Amino acid sequence: MAKVLVDLKNICKSFDEMEVLHDFNLQIMENEFVTLLGPSGCGKTTLLRMIGGFDSPSSGEIYFDGKLLNGVEPNERPINTVFQRYALFPHLNVFDNVAFGLKIKKLPKDEIEKLVMDALKQVHLEDFAARKIDRLSGGQQQRVAMARAIVLKPKLLLLDEPLAALDRKLRQDLRYELKDMQRSLGITFIYVTHDQEEALTMSDTVVIMNEGRVLQIGSPEMIYNEPETRFVANFIGESNIVDGQMIKDNVCMFEGVQFPCTYKGFSKNEEVDIVIRPEDFLIVDKDKSKLTGVIDSKTFQGSIHEINIIDIKGTELTVHTTKDYPLGLEVGLIVDPENITVMKKPGVNVYSGVMEADQMVRISDDIILETDSELEEGTEVVVRILTQDVLLDDIDESDFEGIIQDIKKRDMYYDVYIKTGDKTIVSSTSKVHRVGETTGIWVKREKVIVNVEEDVENE
Ligand code: ATP
Repeated sequence: MAKVLVDLKNICKSFDEMEVLHDFNLQIMENEFVTLLGPSGCGKTTLLRMIGGFDSPSSGEIYFDGKLLNGVEPNERPINTVFQRYALFPHLNVFDNVAFGLKIKKLPKDEIEKLVMDALKQVHLEDFAARKIDRLSGGQQQRVAMARAIVLKPKLLLLDEPLAALDRKLRQDLRYELKDMQRSLGITFIYVTHDQEEALTMSDTVVIMNEGRVLQIGSPEMIYNEPETRFVANFIGESNIVDGQMIKDNVCMFEGVQFPCTYKGFSKNEEVDIVIRPEDFLIVDKDKSKLTGVIDSKTFQGSIHEINIIDIKGTELTVHTTKDYPLGLEVGLIVDPENITVMKKPGVNVYSGVMEADQMVRISDDIILETDSELEEGTEVVVRILTQDVLLDDIDESDFEGIIQDIKKRDMYYDVYIKTGDKTIVSSTSKVHRVGETTGIWVKREKVIVNVEEDVENE
């Protein structure tokens, strides 16, 4: 069975009171190629720096091979890092750049020679040992940086966007080289990128991050084919995401048309998000499908045509085909049940609120919560609280109380609907509660997400 090499437990990190990683948990197995993928600023580099020892968590533990790493100096960790800027020594040649770490370790000369030449072979630079760094191309410099990192035979290699500075063609070639190298060396790689193509082509496991949290962990195929949220579906590739309903087990409806699908266990007529990849729609004769539309625009993208179709409800659907179709043609669209992804609507409570003094936000007369927001008193805001962050407890221990109005069973938990004054708040919990019960409700202050209204685009 695979062994856990890195175990990140409840990692929180704040800079100047701003929390950039929230209760982050992740296990990385030995010999795994794991990619942290997410938009700029989501905390990927911060996480990598903490594993490397260049920064420390505000709270939480990092274990390596079962041993606590917190407080261990970077050079005492069995870990090496390759940065986006390779930080090579320009005055040294290729050999001496790669040999640098080994010389510091004071290894015998002939051993250094053997190890360096082996590492250069790995990166296909064995004929460049005597070359000055500034006489190398960008791709070759990146290979030297890789050789310098692997020559020390770390158990874990951290790679922070190592290909970002290279042109597209070179990036594509190096992707495969990196993956091959990881396999042949048997080193665990943690790779940071915001390029989804890179993540999908190289990794065993992809961790999708946003705003300092893990949104989904899975194989590239799982993440691509079964995105769990709208954010993941959007981020990981071009998708059609439309509102829909689950009519019953194995039947969903979107754009007013029912389709067979592979999903079960939703409530009858539950509102859902439906995801269909552009390559999964098939264009057919308009009489062959109830979902019809008109070809509105198209672009040729080298190997495929991207065709935008305005459907019967006025929604724009994007289709990729190898065949060209004329503009204005009325067509039908079909999709294989296997290629329809049904996602739960994200469990989030959204309210309007007003900031009060001392970082409190008022949602109603009954609900006034502590927040981390420093917005001025009187500012009108939108408050978001994930249903999983709404905790139910004794009334004495809680921020406010309410009466349970309804309970919906989900796959692995219950959604509990609680009425407090004129507001309803939903809590996702694994504990069993009863309708009619009065319960205390509390939310950790850092889980109360406050935005000024124009900041909230995607609600
Ligand atoms: P990118 O893809 O742009 O590199 P990232 O996902 O790697 O982004 P991080 O560099 O980890 O993101 O940054 C996460 C957040 O932490 C950002 O809001 C950033 O401004 C902030 N941050 C990072 N380092 C510091 C620091 N030393 N002091 C203050 N804030 C920081």
